[in-house]
Amino acid sequence: MNNWLNKIQQIFYPYTCFICNKAGENELDLCGQCHKDLKKMGPVCQICGIAMQSKQLFTCGRCLAKKPHFDSITTLYEYDETSKQLIQALKFNSKYNCARTMGKLMSEHFQLNDTLPDAILAVPLHKKRRRERGFNQAQLIAQHIHQQLDIPLFNNACTRTINTASQTTLKAKERRKNLRNAFSYNSLQIINSIAVIDDVVTTGSTANEIARTLKKAGVKHVEIWGFARA
Ligand SMILES: [Zn+2]
Ligand SMILES: [Zn+2]
Repeated sequence: MNNWLNKIQQIFYPYTCFICNKAGENELDLCGQCHKDLKKMGPVCQICGIAMQSKQLFTCGRCLAKKPHFDSITTLYEYDETSKQLIQALKFNSKYNCARTMGKLMSEHFQLNDTLPDAILAVPLHKKRRRERGFNQAQLIAQHIHQQLDIPLFNNACTRTINTASQTTLKAKERRKNLRNAFSYNSLQIINSIAVIDDVVTTGSTANEIARTLKKAGVKHVEIWGFARA
């Protein structure tokens, strides 16, 4: 475990609530109150993780009509004002502490799973985008999950080979087309199960295309672990 890095971080960056600036609690950069303000996901589709009206239904109509390439998407929180602040502080203001907080919350959640994946990897950014931003926020979160859960982190196994246009204005079908073959996966090891780490999951089309790529390369089980669901 790479705990010395955490210890150094704690000395130079004491846990402080990123929302209200009070002292952080439970080794998080969140105070107790702001932590409570993060809204946990309610009933969701067991496959794509999208919010559902009722707990009685397990699979949404879309997944029933066409099974996605990933096995499941699990996200912790709704993408509301609080989770958005955390994600944007990391992404646009380089508040790296947010990554350790998101990584810790995700580790605490996923360590309760019956089985953990053989490896994790972060949703890759195209190198041009990464150069512009200076870092990949999903990678920073994945680094913390790797340390806390002791699961191998496959840093460079999956790359984004096409710098896709912004997805936000595109319709579902256009998104899928836009993403087709945008990723490549090369690993010398045979890995049966992988969890793909993302900060915020929207339609799941990125997750689906990564899962398609990994499965084509022989990975049997692909799950997506996200911090928030838009
Ligand atoms: Zn606070
Ligand atoms: Zn679904």
